[in-house]
Amino acid sequence: MERHDALFIGGGWAEPQGDDHITVVSASTEEVIGRVPEASEADVDAAVAAARGAFDDPGGWPDWEPARRADAMERLADALDRRKDRIARLVSAQNGMPVAIAEQLEGVFPSVVLRYYADLVRTAALEERRPGLMGGTTLVRRRPAGVVAAIVPWNYPQTLASFKIAPALAAGCTMVVKPSPETVLDAYALAEAVMEAELPPGVLNIVPGGREVGRYMITHPRIDKVAFTGSTAAGREIAETCGRLLRPVTLELGGKSAAIVLDDADLGATMENIFGATLLNNGQTCYLGTRVLAPRSRYAEVVEAFSAFAGSLQVGDALDAATQIGPMASARQRDRVESYIGKGRSEGARVTVGGGRPSGLDKGWFVEPTVFADVDNAFTIAQEEIFGPVLSVIPYGDVDEAVAIANDTDYGLGGSVWTSDHERGVQVACRVHTGTIGINGYLPDPTAPFGGVKASGIGRELGPEGLAAYQQNQSVYL
Ligand code: NAD
Repeated sequence: MERHDALFIGGGWAEPQGDDHITVVSASTEEVIGRVPEASEADVDAAVAAARGAFDDPGGWPDWEPARRADAMERLADALDRRKDRIARLVSAQNGMPVAIAEQLEGVFPSVVLRYYADLVRTAALEERRPGLMGGTTLVRRRPAGVVAAIVPWNYPQTLASFKIAPALAAGCTMVVKPSPETVLDAYALAEAVMEAELPPGVLNIVPGGREVGRYMITHPRIDKVAFTGSTAAGREIAETCGRLLRPVTLELGGKSAAIVLDDADLGATMENIFGATLLNNGQTCYLGTRVLAPRSRYAEVVEAFSAFAGSLQVGDALDAATQIGPMASARQRDRVESYIGKGRSEGARVTVGGGRPSGLDKGWFVEPTVFADVDNAFTIAQEEIFGPVLSVIPYGDVDEAVAIANDTDYGLGGSVWTSDHERGVQVACRVHTGTIGINGYLPDPTAPFGGVKASGIGRELGPEGLAAYQQNQSVYL
């Protein structure tokens, strides 16, 4: 049981101003594993004031030379590296991510992202003199956007926080970060790392809390920019609020991506990559290709391959190194996944593997990896984000039809194309309306913009584009 009684505000541990607590429960065992204070509005005010001071005080973080900020970010990356195993185990215990995956994605990736942006800001031109057409020159400056409210979901709490923290710090912004109530314990390890790295007080503050705390943050009059990752429903509400306030906002939202299997795909050779592109983190990953589009000529074979693969995955306690599929992050999340499995059945889809709770796992919020065949793209299970280990195999005639089905969705975040002809795969991928897509695999890279179109969001994280999201341009006509 990990217990914390203070909040990380202003560079140190602050006494909470309210009495509420968040109790953290293990997704695998349903045992209580932690308790932390829930930030009150007064705590958010204090965190925003600390970030405001760190931003506004002359000579502070935004005024530092970029190389000096980069040094501090590298110290933070080092401090996170020293905690990577603990962070991976905390994330795994809280949200059910198999620990072998958490070690890589939650343990290693955040410091990779921090170092990428530290390098980028050492060399990025933050000012340029641009020859004009009206007889003069313009000094174009990329200034930090200001104080950022960053709201993060529970599925990749450290990595998705780093997608915001790294570019924001590099740009010279200061921040208030709100983790999800499901995953607050790893946020304390982040706070310790920030202290060890000696970031100036107030540059990064953490306020654990639920949606009411999030709502309060984004409307706070002293916040300049909002960065949100989470559900499309919450994203719409936040977009409306930020629209009213004319406050810049980046939104990384839900997905319902397609994994397009072309008629020449060698599924046997790529099954390991298929796991990462369709079922990673128990299906609780925003970009997964949960609609598997299979050519009619190979439909039975594709259904069989995916069913055999899903059925072979080891389901168990997330902290067991051999586990490939852990539990859902919460009871509510399992209910939601089970209700979609029920809907799929009632709409006429055929369960070829899974569909229930695994036997022998009486504690924890487990769902069997499940494959539906005979799915029409209009079915609810093909249109709505399930966020669990549930795949729908949808038949298509020719490539034009595959592309049309892939694009027949409200979302546009990820996707993949499976083929023996790489160039053909790229051509098909370029026809899909989506922010990101992979050929014979899917692996987001820190150097490339990540984000969605349509109901999957607005704006991009990662790459130089992710840095631009934390900057405001100023033109000085010389
Ligand atoms: P959620 O929207 O319920 O919560 C996300 C975060 O926002 C939490 O910290 C929550 O407390 C807060 N929040 C919720 N409603 C809010 C509101 N109205 N105002 C301010 N804050 C609010 O989502 P979740 O269930 O935690 O996460 C799963 C969702 O996140 C899925 O839809 C998934 O696809 C999406 N997601 C998207 C990406 C991406 O990069 N596009 C990555 C991971 C997850």
